[in-house]
Amino acid sequence: MPKRVLFIMSDTGGGHRAAAEAIRDALIAKYGDEVQCQMVDGFRHYSPFPFKYMPEFYPWLINHSKSSWGVGYKLSNTRRRAKVAAQAIYLTAEKRLKRMLREYPADVVVSVHSVLTHLAMQAMMAQEKRPPFVVVVTDLVSTHMFWYDRRADRTLVPTLPALERGLEAGIKAEQMRITGLPVHPQFEKKLLDKAVARQQLGWDANLPAILMVGGGEGMGPLYKVARAINSRKLKCQLIIIAGRNKTLKEKLEESDWNQPVKVYGFVTDMPKLMAAADILVTKAGPATISEAAIAGLPLILFDAIPGQEEGNVDFVVENKAGEYAPTPKQVADAAQQWLSEGAAGLKRRSDAARSIAKPNAVWEIAEEIWEYAHKPAITTNRRNILKDVVERSKLLNSLQSLTD
Ligand code: UDP
Repeated sequence: MPKRVLFIMSDTGGGHRAAAEAIRDALIAKYGDEVQCQMVDGFRHYSPFPFKYMPEFYPWLINHSKSSWGVGYKLSNTRRRAKVAAQAIYLTAEKRLKRMLREYPADVVVSVHSVLTHLAMQAMMAQEKRPPFVVVVTDLVSTHMFWYDRRADRTLVPTLPALERGLEAGIKAEQMRITGLPVHPQFEKKLLDKAVARQQLGWDANLPAILMVGGGEGMGPLYKVARAINSRKLKCQLIIIAGRNKTLKEKLEESDWNQPVKVYGFVTDMPKLMAAADILVTKAGPATISEAAIAGLPLILFDAIPGQEEGNVDFVVENKAGEYAPTPKQVADAAQQWLSEGAAGLKRRSDAARSIAKPNAVWEIAEEIWEYAHKPAITTNRRNILKDVVERSKLLNSLQSLTD
């Protein structure tokens, strides 16, 4: 009988699915038919209105009102508030989440989503027996309190600051491990030689290539940044990935450019594009940063989602893997400066970017999950169920006090 692994994720941005798929494929590569993986979008399929629209609402909010997202993130980012907020969402989604666990019986449940961590744990605690629960934190540094649930059997974090946040949340050090962020096992293997990658992609063989991306959804001021670089008439080629942002793609395609430009929609061969490029201009997405490090691609960060991505900027800058350039003009300045340093300068920056790479993270995470898949189901005794009832009345009181 294969070991059943259930991944709980949501398509809020591209990173959660990417992380779950990376771990799933590492598990399959290592354990073949002995493992069976399922993946569910906990918001889309097992939460009521309005949460079921989180995959649409999240990129919309980031693109239209980033500051409100930041305020919500900061307000909810204490141990107590995160718990109250997650419990409140849980109350609305409880029946559906319990159905999810019935529909996907598993030997181990893995959460790769901050908010869904507490929700899934809570639903499991209502079962008489529950499978082991592993949390894989897919934000890099400034991790939200939502990620940390003391009842989780294992919490795998990407960096030391993320582990320290876990300690603040009351998780014991021995319950956690620093692995790095999971990047698809094929990513490293698919990194072609630069010249070969360029030839396959039909890019200019000789001009330095600036690759631009704004996460899976084409978020942030990508268009303005591209125009600022364009205005410098640099000796380079500009490669812009609009992701799922169709409006942005059309706008880019309709514009006139001073240097060779290629515009892509959502690409499925990121390793090839990163291998072919010399500089990556991007928002501070955790998956993109981790992939760029493995590709040895130095970063110019033009944007960070307030809250969860802000710490990523310091992480990149402190480790000399890239620079922060928060305005289109500053991005153009940095690109111009980097290109003026020639091939030797780009090589130095590329080596620095590679120094933060963790290509083994995905294998270490897969091994941990495999280990937990072999542990017996855990009895959630009556005390826990009673505790749940007490927690619930406490929550109702907290909610009442917030509205008083
Ligand atoms: N990505 C992709 N194709 C695209 C754009 C992005 O495969 O056209 C992937 C990218 O390689 C990364 C993920 O989407 O794995 C983006 O994750 P990140 O954490 O950087 O940002 P998010 O989209 O979650 O905000």
